[in-house]
Amino acid sequence: MKYVSTRGTGDLGRFSDVLLMGLAPDGGLAMPERIPTFTAAELEGLRQLKYADLAFAVMRPFIDDIPEEDLKRLLKDTYRPDVFHSQDITPVTPLGNSGLYLLELSNGPSLAFKDMAMQFLGQVFEYVLEHRDERLNILGATSGDTGSAAEYAMLGKPRVNVFMLSPHGRMSAFQQAQMFSLNEPNIFNIAVEGVFDDCQDLVKEVNADAEFKARYDIGAVNSINWARVLAQAVYYFKAYFALGLPAGAEADFCVPSGNFGNVFAGYLARKMGLPIGQLVVASNENDVLYEFFSTGAYHVRPGERVAKTSSPSMDIGKASNFERYLYLIAGENGEQTGAWWRAVGRGEPVSLSGTPHWDGVKASGFVAGRSTHADRLQTIRQTDQQFGRLIDPHTADGVLVAQQFQRPGVPMVCLETALPAKFEETVQEAVQRQPDRPERFRDIEKADRHSIVLPNDVQALKTYIREQLEKKV
Ligand SMILES: *Cc1c(COP(=O)(O)O)cnc(C)c1O
Repeated sequence: MKYVSTRGTGDLGRFSDVLLMGLAPDGGLAMPERIPTFTAAELEGLRQLKYADLAFAVMRPFIDDIPEEDLKRLLKDTYRPDVFHSQDITPVTPLGNSGLYLLELSNGPSLAFKDMAMQFLGQVFEYVLEHRDERLNILGATSGDTGSAAEYAMLGKPRVNVFMLSPHGRMSAFQQAQMFSLNEPNIFNIAVEGVFDDCQDLVKEVNADAEFKARYDIGAVNSINWARVLAQAVYYFKAYFALGLPAGAEADFCVPSGNFGNVFAGYLARKMGLPIGQLVVASNENDVLYEFFSTGAYHVRPGERVAKTSSPSMDIGKASNFERYLYLIAGENGEQTGAWWRAVGRGEPVSLSGTPHWDGVKASGFVAGRSTHADRLQTIRQTDQQFGRLIDPHTADGVLVAQQFQRPGVPMVCLETALPAKFEETVQEAVQRQPDRPERFRDIEKADRHSIVLPNDVQALKTYIREQLEKKV
């Protein structure tokens, strides 16, 4: 399978090439040159597969440059019951007989759904780097979930180091402890004296220095990575089959969304022939996606207009993976996508309503809703009382919006994107008690901290990276 850019220029190579690439040279995102589909009979053949085997069947058409046996082994090593604390890896739990189901994606190492893809990235990075005899120093910025998922995925990987920036003193106590308690020679936690945007700007500044970047093998694991999107498509299949519907019957999915990576993976599954009816996008107060699907106008928000909410992992003003969706809506026309995205970059609204593309949006299955802090508290409380199930604030955004789009007789699967233990403060506010924590995190705040504090200064950061890497050789 060849990959192309959403901006239409050139050939990006095959899976292993786009895996390590980040943005395409023309600024676009990698997409497969076509999306293969399963026939109804082929889908039936996938119904009984275990997670790792299903992952192989779904991902193989897009990954043809890794030998079959190796890819099978990588996936078996990734999707292990002992890592995801469940035989099924992603169990599906009904919420009473409401027709709503929770798809549990957050039982992995960092308690958020990002583990589902990041754990695979850890395995496949190490494999590809080994074959190419290369190294990778991941530089990232996190306000919470991405950083811990990346660090837990790269633990003990000799060819990979992680330098993770976070805003000093601004993450929740649990999130800080989760990252800073790691004492590993390839993990470097850097608390920056600044806010999350400062951390992101530092990453951009380092990446703008092409010489430094090449010399120190600087790379990323951000949400635009194609391998992450692809790995996330698998659990839509797994959940669909777990519902035990007759062949061809539809299911709807509701996805708490920020960067549009998770729900785009659902769209990929739909395109591959999985009978998904609606893909419900749930936003919080930062409702750019809701705005698009209800008015046809996509208008990004600059950082200073992005609200700080109680579902912080969805506090995003520009959904980076949305470019992939627009590319498919444009009929895989890179020129059109490039023109739209350049307008987006200039802060101009892109409006599709009244154009033929809007019919494509309507036919794509997407609908959207949004919620507020008060909705979130109310939904956490109600789900606890009605179904005896405590959910986190992001999942609550989803459960609330899912109810608005439920159809009689059609199951609605809500993706559980984090465990409540990760967001204790909001859960406490909703139900006046603390959520349970998995045993392994019981006293994590008491563990020794391994992090350093740096000023918000790119030179200081570069010096630190250089010193650490030179110490290692
Ligand atoms: C990252 C994240 C999201 C948003 O997912 P996208 O793929 O960026 O849309 C939602 N909930 C939680 C808990 C997350 O960590």
